[in-house]
Amino acid sequence: MIIALCNQKGGVSKTTSTICLGGLLAESAKVLLIDLDPQGNLTTGLGIEVEDDQLTAYEVITEQCSTAAAIAPTKIKNLDLLPADISLAKGETEILGKVGNFCLLKEQLETVFDQYDHILIDCPPSLGLLTINALTVADQVLVPVQCQFFALKGLAALLETIESVKKRLNPNIDILGVLPTMFEQTVMARDVITSLEKRFGKSLVFPAVPKSVRFAESNLAGEPIHLYVNEHKLIYPYKSIIKAMEA
Ligand code: ATP
Ligand code: MG
Repeated sequence: MIIALCNQKGGVSKTTSTICLGGLLAESAKVLLIDLDPQGNLTTGLGIEVEDDQLTAYEVITEQCSTAAAIAPTKIKNLDLLPADISLAKGETEILGKVGNFCLLKEQLETVFDQYDHILIDCPPSLGLLTINALTVADQVLVPVQCQFFALKGLAALLETIESVKKRLNPNIDILGVLPTMFEQTVMARDVITSLEKRFGKSLVFPAVPKSVRFAESNLAGEPIHLYVNEHKLIYPYKSIIKAMEA
């Protein structure tokens, strides 16, 4: 199953959630994480530094190399990474004029599909060509939403984009669910969750991930949260997502 973690709003925990979910899935399956963000936070967040001559998502999406050639192992068993760095920003511009440029990632990933049980794509905070490439290959979209005042703003644009992709490029795509993140026990945070439940239906809103400094610490340590600290309340929202994936 291929899941795109997508929200054009920045800093909502897309990358952190990709690492947490990927780490948990890798306990019992073979998992590939794809850094599709020129910020390269997924790559750094897994403790990987891209070397000057290293192949990355840039070379893959511009068809300069195969996906297999750019995939790197992480220090976690069963967890591989297609890394990215700032060169991917240049890649997005380079593919602008290409015919079929929405399908480049899909075509490139088809060659490694049979090697992985799950592929997770960490999208950049935009609805540009990189995100469209992720949505074109994805079976499911997971939308992390920060429990903040402006959280719902912009969700309409995201849903419209997913609908257009479903209609024109990828009829298989579905919304796996919405993941409220950085939850604090405040009226505002609870209001955000109520609004999400009204909009998507309760079954599509996963249990909220609490706000905790442990997540930033685990990013710095280059580890998924469950390996960094064994705190049930931080981990169980991600376990609920895995349950939904298996359902
Ligand atoms: P971008 O849109 O820039 O790619 P993002 O959506 O990928 O951002 P992250 O980079 O995962 O978001 O998280 C943004 C910041 O919030 C990071 O510093 C991260 O450590 C922190 N963070 C993520 N999840 C939580 C959480 N549950 N509680 C507290 N801090 C968090
Ligand atoms: Mg990110």
